[in-house]
Amino acid sequence: MSLQNELYKELILEHSRNPSHRGHLDDANVHESGVNRSCGDEVELELFVKDAVIRGIRVNGNGCSISMASGSMMAESVDGMTVEQAEQLIENFKAMITEGKAVELPAELEDLEALQGVKRYPIRVKCATLSWNTLEQALKKAASL
Ligand code: ZN
Repeated sequence: MSLQNELYKELILEHSRNPSHRGHLDDANVHESGVNRSCGDEVELELFVKDAVIRGIRVNGNGCSISMASGSMMAESVDGMTVEQAEQLIENFKAMITEGKAVELPAELEDLEALQGVKRYPIRVKCATLSWNTLEQALKKAASL
């Protein structure tokens, strides 16, 4: 295994052990949940969206380390973004994971590259994209607030 893969593995384990953005938001105005039956991953999102900006996000759930790490990284990435920026990132992330497309990620989002290795394991792709698909649904709901 290459050094880079080792670093990515460490990063995924670190996020799954100490997930970011857990807990609840008092002012959440969007709730959405998602399930990945092929692995048993469950994710619940709480968002506070105002003026088309994600002003708060919490990710809760249970699942494998890939799904939990992905949710944690996602929350860190999109917290504070506009809905439009987040939608673009969802699209880029999914292109990277499912099509193996090389995408330009801003320096502060480089952690997400750690997940690109899952594209070699189709069954894991659903784990990595679960929270992102759930966020996509949540943002659709937010648009009709
Ligand atoms: Zn999983």
